[in-house]
Amino acid sequence: MGLGMLHANEYNGMVSYSTDGRVMGINQQSYAYGASKSSIREIAAYGAARKAAIGAENVYDFSLGNPSVPAPDAVRDSIAHALTLPATALHGYTPANGLPAARKAVSDSLNRRFGTTYGPDDLYLTCGAAASISITLNAVCNAGDEVIVIAPYFPEYAVFIQNAGASCVEVMADAETFQIDVPAVEAAITERTAAVMVDSPNNPVGSVYARQNLEDLASVLGRKSREYGHAIYLISDEPYREIAYDVEVPWVPTIYDRTIVCYSYSKSLSLPGERIGWVLVPPTNPEHDQLVPAVAGAGRKMGFVCAPALFQRVLIDCVDEPANIEAYAKNRRALTEGLSAIGYEFIEPQGAFYLWMRALEPDANAFFERAKSYELLPVPSDSFGCTGWVRVGYCVSYETIVNSMPAWQQLWDSYQA
Ligand code: PLP
Repeated sequence: MGLGMLHANEYNGMVSYSTDGRVMGINQQSYAYGASKSSIREIAAYGAARKAAIGAENVYDFSLGNPSVPAPDAVRDSIAHALTLPATALHGYTPANGLPAARKAVSDSLNRRFGTTYGPDDLYLTCGAAASISITLNAVCNAGDEVIVIAPYFPEYAVFIQNAGASCVEVMADAETFQIDVPAVEAAITERTAAVMVDSPNNPVGSVYARQNLEDLASVLGRKSREYGHAIYLISDEPYREIAYDVEVPWVPTIYDRTIVCYSYSKSLSLPGERIGWVLVPPTNPEHDQLVPAVAGAGRKMGFVCAPALFQRVLIDCVDEPANIEAYAKNRRALTEGLSAIGYEFIEPQGAFYLWMRALEPDANAFFERAKSYELLPVPSDSFGCTGWVRVGYCVSYETIVNSMPAWQQLWDSYQA
């Protein structure tokens, strides 16, 4: 197809127009996503530069969600064992949805834990939760659909939703408890709603949605699906499932049958760089038989096939390895005790490794700028779709938390004058 006349003043070096008025050239949405940095990454880059300038021990960087505990020894042993396989077997393609033995290891593990009867064919192995979510959205959304997210939320959700041709509809969580505000979700559902996304234990709040809260949501979704005559899916993104502190994390498919679960081992086994996770379409989902091929087709469309073979093999050995949450629990205690002794207000974290703290002024970005001058680097809540709070990621060393307390005190004092 040839290029038509250029609209000279609109030509920006990347885009021109065909004679029928269509944009040609570099995809502008992709360009915009690539050219703009995520604010979390920007803060982390600032933190790295600052550490290089004044010494790592003098910067309290709470910005990233990179696990600070090592992967279990069993992972290393499993890799060592895999390396004894013939190279062609080790490095070869697996089926697009993953090795049957790896999928069986996962489904058996889920059945042991949740009393379910899942099979290997209900699972599609992926390159982490990001791929699981993108695949799932592309399996259930059509152009013009809407997907509801509970704000504050993981900012990449909006990118994944737009990529699936849908629009992201933000519904604020309950302002006091940060549980799902079910009446507000109900009010936001329209005939275009394809899915609602939940994330529990939650990034960025650290809350865990209570069973009753999820049951209330399920009853609204069931009622609205019937009212509009089409399925409204619940996409349960659960990379932090295993990181919970003495609180029940309900298994969502037993609460709402049209649930699809997105999971990864990035946080539970501290393997974020290895890119391994899965999508589960439970057989109890009424559209299971259509959803399984739709998930496979979405993976195919996006080229998300054959998750890393080495780490599929690691799953066979390590799927039941417990997450090492002691270090996070210790950090959580030190952080919550230290900050509440100073006077800060926060949501008591029940899971994940984030603390959601009220900024000391309404503008979280201004609060962040002032925190920065004390070498404290939380993430302002505007990055997550809400104002007035910051996320303090405590997947850092224990020393960072303890040593940061005088700086938190000075920051507090600076607001008392
Ligand atoms: N979902 C949530 C809520 C997350 O916090 C993250 C990563 O931080 C992801 C998904 C992406 O996880 P993964 O690294 O497995 O792609």
